[in-house]
Amino acid sequence: MKMDKTYKTRDYGNIFRLIYAMKRCTRQQIAEKLSISLPTVTHNLNLLTQRGLVYNSGAHHATGGRKANLYQCVADSRLALGIDITRRHLSLVLINLELQIVDKKRIRCAFQDSDAYFAHMGRELTEILSKNGVDGGRLLGVGVSMPVIVNSDQKSISYAEVINVGENLYERMAAHIPYPFLLFNDANSAGLAESWVSDSSGDMTYLFLSASVGGAHMTGRQLQYGANQRTGEFGHMCIVPGGRRCYCGQRGCLDAYCSAKILSDFTGGNLGAFFEALKQGDNPGYRRLFDQYMDYLAIAVKNLRMCYDSDIVLGGTVGAYMSDYIDVFRQKVAALNPFERETGYIRVCHYKTEAAAVGSAIYYINEFIGTVENQ
Ligand SMILES: [Zn+2]
Repeated sequence: MKMDKTYKTRDYGNIFRLIYAMKRCTRQQIAEKLSISLPTVTHNLNLLTQRGLVYNSGAHHATGGRKANLYQCVADSRLALGIDITRRHLSLVLINLELQIVDKKRIRCAFQDSDAYFAHMGRELTEILSKNGVDGGRLLGVGVSMPVIVNSDQKSISYAEVINVGENLYERMAAHIPYPFLLFNDANSAGLAESWVSDSSGDMTYLFLSASVGGAHMTGRQLQYGANQRTGEFGHMCIVPGGRRCYCGQRGCLDAYCSAKILSDFTGGNLGAFFEALKQGDNPGYRRLFDQYMDYLAIAVKNLRMCYDSDIVLGGTVGAYMSDYIDVFRQKVAALNPFERETGYIRVCHYKTEAAAVGSAIYYINEFIGTVENQ
């Protein structure tokens, strides 16, 4: 029987996924790893190449002197857009299949649940796509992350205190986003982005330290949602019984001690200015404040290590400044941990401001890679 030239099998998807995971590989490596014949590999590589998903990136010297061609994914063959909505900013990030940031924009713009705001968002979306020559054929979808708890339908919201949102938000946004789109919790999205960008495939706990505190827990790059989509609501763990009042109505929550506002309130809402002044070192008040901030944060990190026994990534707007202080911070956590002195499991985030937007776009990249044979 002659093989249909356009026939796609499960091998087609598996070959694409293997090349994606390995970054580059030879025909022989694919045949061996997937236990399929070389003619089947060749047939599917031809199909993937014709469709613009894979390319031959040149020869590689194998041991023994023979040259073998290397195949790689075409990173820009598909793109996804992530939009992050916060109280004060609107960010857009266009990423390709390899999670490289193709373009991004961050606008200072206060959130309002209004048609005018969503129309503005729609115009920014159209602009970034047309500027980069991205049409509906290459765009996989748009992920919108917000500081809200999103139901499992990714369209309705079960809890929103940080920003005010009304009913039927998704439907009202849809009028301005003419592509497939879904809503995501900001901290979950940011955690997902950090988990994908790190080389580790192990468990990861992500602490999102921004205007509000949240987080995420990932197992093998998969977000754990829990029964009510509330896994990772670390901001409302109690760290000081009867302590400061939290916006949720309770007392002593981590959010009341470790939100970015605790620091930025001293510099007119500008977190960058706080860390700049801290670095200058001439304000002992800021040093004491940040030292106390790290003391509370260390309690949270120690507790998370006890719960999950996984890597812990410090993210969000504060996490982005933690590199300079990580050694001191690790010592604080080590002093609280009864089991271990080693603190290499505490890491600083990779992304500075765009993690939530990247993570919401990753949803579409993940979906595409998982179902490429059906596209
Ligand atoms: Zn709370």
